[in-house]
Amino acid sequence: MLTPYYQYDLGILEDTLKAINRCTADRKDWHVHYAIKANANPMLLKLIRKHGLGIDCVSGGEIRVALENGFDASTIVFAGVGKAEWEIDLSLEAGIACFNVESEAELDVISERCALLNKRANIALRVNPDVDAHTHAGITTGTAENKFGIEIPMLMPIIQKAKADPHLSFVGLHFHIGSQILDTEPFIQLCKKVNHLQDQLEAQGITLKSINVGGGLGVDYDNPEENPIPDFESYFNIFRTCLKLREGQQLHFELGRSVVAQCGRLITKVLYVKQGTVKKFVIVDAGFTELIRPAFYGAHHKIVNMTSKGVLRRYDVVGPICESSDVFGKDELLNETSRGDIIAILTAGAYGETMASCYNCRSLPRSISGKF
Ligand SMILES: *Cc1c(COP(=O)(O)O)cnc(C)c1O
Repeated sequence: MLTPYYQYDLGILEDTLKAINRCTADRKDWHVHYAIKANANPMLLKLIRKHGLGIDCVSGGEIRVALENGFDASTIVFAGVGKAEWEIDLSLEAGIACFNVESEAELDVISERCALLNKRANIALRVNPDVDAHTHAGITTGTAENKFGIEIPMLMPIIQKAKADPHLSFVGLHFHIGSQILDTEPFIQLCKKVNHLQDQLEAQGITLKSINVGGGLGVDYDNPEENPIPDFESYFNIFRTCLKLREGQQLHFELGRSVVAQCGRLITKVLYVKQGTVKKFVIVDAGFTELIRPAFYGAHHKIVNMTSKGVLRRYDVVGPICESSDVFGKDELLNETSRGDIIAILTAGAYGETMASCYNCRSLPRSISGKF
């Protein structure tokens, strides 16, 4: 296979999905939606659908892909701060489960489109809970200085408006505090905020049919071979013990990264080993066009030489793209590396292939399934 390409181990994905289902099997009132923006590869979607997850979308394109891959519209929820009219119309025609609405202005437009198309929309309001997930600034979403969601002081009049609108059914609240969260504390804080808010709303006569706590569970980028399955048990136990659900209330989760990150690797070939005055560079044929996370967020993925068994040496592993940020890792310990060696960049199943671009007129990466 011509490098670079993504390799997906569907066995790891299956084990991951089984782990999720083990933790949620006893809860008919819990619903897990896979955040399709993490990876929309049809091979993966097929398995995710087989294991009964719904879908969380953030664009009309994602809704189309979810429907094309056989997901039932009734399992699709739709978030995003900038829903275009065509995306709203597409969702109404398909009959998706719920719009996660991020502003009053958006609520007005959804109501307008419903009137025009003679449809009724289920509405959850996305609340900005002002919980700091303590992750990278680029992937924190739940703090006050953030474009996502509606701030709590502004919530009540918007709920009243949604409830009064004949085209809309207000079903509940939606939260999503960020991504790659490995600490339990932010999720506990989120539960406390939700409990408090729910008490306040009930005191004013507002009841919620559903609560959506979003996604954000992190994965082990440092030791992926030792920890291929995220700690779903601790994650779900937080919500089991800390969140006070009311009788009949439904709880929704939107997991992305934790579902697919560990089942994918980016496979690339060494084009050159270049000796500088102080550093050695391994120049590979993949760049940020295939995997942008290191350049974009300063993320680090474990890098392994699959060919060489030579002594360990330090290298900067870089791509061919004409940007200085096109670096996968600095001072990486790799087995002695030469031109032609195959390099694997691990834990690349989430926000890898879906974020690929054609910069420098490159082709989009291919993908295969294969056991690691
Ligand atoms: C991205 C996103 C998710 C998934 O986040 P992960 O960190 O990948 O689990 C869930 N909900 C919403 C609204 C999102 O935008």
